[in-house]
Amino acid sequence: MANVNKAIKISQKHLLGIQDLSISDVNFILSEAKQFIDLNKSKNKKLDVLRGKTQINLFFEPSTRTQSSFELAGKRLGADVMSMNLNNSAIKKGETLIDTAMTLNAMHPDIIVVRHQDSGASNLLSQKVNCAVLNAGDGRREHPTQALLDALTIIDRKEKIEGLKIAICGDIVHSRVARSNIYLLNMLGAEVNIIGPSNLMPKDIEKLGVKSFSDMKKGLKDCDIVMMLRLQNERMTSSFLSSNREYYEYYGLTPDKLDFAKDDALIMHPGPMNRGIEIDTNLADDINKSVIKEQVELGVAVRMACLKIFCE
Ligand code: ASP
Repeated sequence: MANVNKAIKISQKHLLGIQDLSISDVNFILSEAKQFIDLNKSKNKKLDVLRGKTQINLFFEPSTRTQSSFELAGKRLGADVMSMNLNNSAIKKGETLIDTAMTLNAMHPDIIVVRHQDSGASNLLSQKVNCAVLNAGDGRREHPTQALLDALTIIDRKEKIEGLKIAICGDIVHSRVARSNIYLLNMLGAEVNIIGPSNLMPKDIEKLGVKSFSDMKKGLKDCDIVMMLRLQNERMTSSFLSSNREYYEYYGLTPDKLDFAKDDALIMHPGPMNRGIEIDTNLADDINKSVIKEQVELGVAVRMACLKIFCE
């Protein structure tokens, strides 16, 4: 839903997916986020931009990085933050997403951050509550703040996204990270290669404006960025892989496969990583090539920007 008051700065009331954002929305979020990078490295990290505001983190799926990142981001901006892990709560007693939303809505939060296993859950929630909703990952649909933090990390290292060749590799079909990144990287002018085994590749992926490859070496050729994805075992209803060893052999990022990318190619992974399955453990930790820790660091800045923009 468009928001008239925020029309000059951002076209949306909620952050539900990259697909809803315009390029100027994206540039606005990224420029706000840049301002928080240095603050997060300084001794005094506390601002009072969101003083008096209430932020509820509603996590129906487990999360380490995203939940702690949103929690820190809210606290650094001075909001009152409450985090609820609904794996262990009333949901187990049969309360639905909507019941939970209505209960929390009655407590007048200013912003709800939601992660849910069903695609579209954040859109549904946004129709039922009065406050802004930020999607922290819904099923296999979108994970907009992950794509925004990935873009900020790339810009921080490569100074641009336009014209870069970026490979997204692995379990594409189950990945909301892949989808949000495809939308965002295309919008920002990158050339996107999608690499994975045919049974983990959506049939009509090329309609999203990307090239698809089943051979990792061909897909990685001359890439500037190699973005690895986790095998989403929790979303696999049947056996997709013959063995982890075979997957590593063909699709794990190893030095010999990385050789096909550019010499200064950067390695990314949204975490959590399956070391030795999607990625060689030494490559994941190689400070000259891997920016995985920087992704986590800049994630806080991006979430601060999103909270500030959508809560105001
Ligand atoms: N943390 C990311 C997500 O929530 C990636 C992953 O779990 O593999 O989608």
